[in-house]
Amino acid sequence: MTIENGEDCCVKVAVHIRPLIGDERIQGCKDCVTVVPGQPQVQIGSHSFTFDHVYGSTGSPPAAMFEELAAPLVDGLFQGYNGTVLAYGQTGSGKTYTMGTGGKDGCQNGIIPQVMNALFHKVENLKHHSELQLRVSFIEVLKEEVKDLLDPGSAGKVEPGNVHVAKIAIPGKPPIQIREGSNGVITLAGSTEVDVRTKKEMVACLEQGSFNRATGSTNMNNQSSRSHAIFTITLEQMHKPNQMFSVDGMPVEDMTEDCLFAKLHLVDLAGSERAKRTGSDGLRFKEGVHINRGLLALGNVISALGDEKKRKDGAHVPYRDSKLTRLLQDSLGGNSRTVMIACISPADINAEETLNTLKYANRAR
Ligand code: ADP
Ligand code: MG
Repeated sequence: MTIENGEDCCVKVAVHIRPLIGDERIQGCKDCVTVVPGQPQVQIGSHSFTFDHVYGSTGSPPAAMFEELAAPLVDGLFQGYNGTVLAYGQTGSGKTYTMGTGGKDGCQNGIIPQVMNALFHKVENLKHHSELQLRVSFIEVLKEEVKDLLDPGSAGKVEPGNVHVAKIAIPGKPPIQIREGSNGVITLAGSTEVDVRTKKEMVACLEQGSFNRATGSTNMNNQSSRSHAIFTITLEQMHKPNQMFSVDGMPVEDMTEDCLFAKLHLVDLAGSERAKRTGSDGLRFKEGVHINRGLLALGNVISALGDEKKRKDGAHVPYRDSKLTRLLQDSLGGNSRTVMIACISPADINAEETLNTLKYANRAR
């Protein structure tokens, strides 16, 4: 479902179906999801959904997924447009695999590694015409709190090209604050922004942050499935002044310098499965509620953006309902481009959650 925003479409929704994996095969699970050949259409039981793109285990390879979904956002970055790629789905559905947020263990065909390849390829071609500055940040939203994955205060600190450097804990590192400038630009006060010059340095940041996300979770009930991980690439571009000549052949400086600033958020969302009340202390339930707040708000924001009639009436887009939507505010809607990839398992044991995911993604129209 493409949402038209003037000539440009602002939200694209795709589905990525992973193959049956080890456990599911061992349990003898059956494949309950069908893709209509040649159509971006998915069927499960009596339900049928149409999206902008569907990538199945027998469908287009991940290379097409990058080209069709993320490559236009990388191009947009160089034209000053913000962008967001979101991976949605239940835990185990392939979000981290799809995004390539897994660091060293991640899939090299994932969106983020391919974004990096395309980005540095373009940088190489442009560096003689523009001064380019790339920065990355990597944060996690857990229980409505924003955490710095590049400087968690205890686990490690990034030094480009030098990963996994142990660091002494800083007790009481102040929490990251989301701020909105008068120009509507959202900034994260207190988060680490690393200047990167090479792909190797950017990869080091991804790996360090992924490592910190995973280690932070080992003793805490695998929290990584309950947090939203947001890897953000910022590009600042200053066109070098052209050497021009006056009518009498004298060199003059073209003073029309323009500076473009844009960012691309690559988001591995928290697992979308329903919060289950497991402990008597209600702690886990509270976490579930917070996660749902982010996913719920995101669904409402994307749905409001896509509702043309509402938008024309200047309807309120509920960005402020969660930290997640608040910090993505300037990169969802407006001139920015958003891609949601709904990740699903084909296994019949997951049919209920798969249907929930498809319904959520369908609402994003
Ligand atoms: P999530 O991040 O949604 O919890 P993961 O990305 O960790 O899910 O995927 C769960 C498991 O499925 C992992 O072992 C991963 O390697 C595997 N997997 C996910 N997607 C695919 C795919 N498209 N092809 C092969 N294996 C996959
Ligand atoms: Mg994951």
